[in-house]
Amino acid sequence: MTKVTAYIGLGSNLATPQEQLKAARLAISALKDTEELGFSSLYRSPPMGPQDQPDYVNAVMAVNTELSPITLLRSLQKIELEQGRVRKDEQWGPRTLDLDILLYGSEVINIPDLIVPHYGMAVRAFVLYPLQEIAPSVLIPELGLVSDCVDKCPLDGLERIA
Ligand code: ATP
Ligand code: CA
Ligand code: CA
Ligand code: CA
Repeated sequence: MTKVTAYIGLGSNLATPQEQLKAARLAISALKDTEELGFSSLYRSPPMGPQDQPDYVNAVMAVNTELSPITLLRSLQKIELEQGRVRKDEQWGPRTLDLDILLYGSEVINIPDLIVPHYGMAVRAFVLYPLQEIAPSVLIPELGLVSDCVDKCPLDGLERIA
């Protein structure tokens, strides 16, 4: 298998979010045939959807991986469960850990369980700003340069955590 650079969006708003992201970073690095290439600063962002929940801590991680897209997705879902993610019916409810595949090389994937580039990334400041921080010239298939997406995306309350 060839190595592909993938970008993963991390988010948490329960059970000490910064610790959740730290543990997730280690767990992702420990996946087989996968190694860390970069990790953004941590960012704080107001919740999407239901407002009666804590702010989120978000980051973006770059990896080199030989895992297929679907194997990477299943591996990330396993890490979410291991870190206490409980799936509820409510959309965008509070969670200990959310791991989304943002980009998988330059591939466009559209299968029932996996849409890449991630469908929300064009309008999510908490994805675009940390992504730009670690990959300032990355091209997002069907959207264009990350910098152009950032220029069109208001901060929406996003703050970099010092
Ligand atoms: P959103 O997808 O809007 O960010 P969410 O992260 O809260 O919301 P989840 O409940 O974590 O949504 O995931 C719902 C489904 O999204 C998963 O079952 C997964 O199969 C699917 N999915 C599709 N594309 C992706 C992707 N690129 N990364 C992660 N999950 C994806
Ligand atoms: Ca590894
Ligand atoms: Ca998500
Ligand atoms: Ca998700």
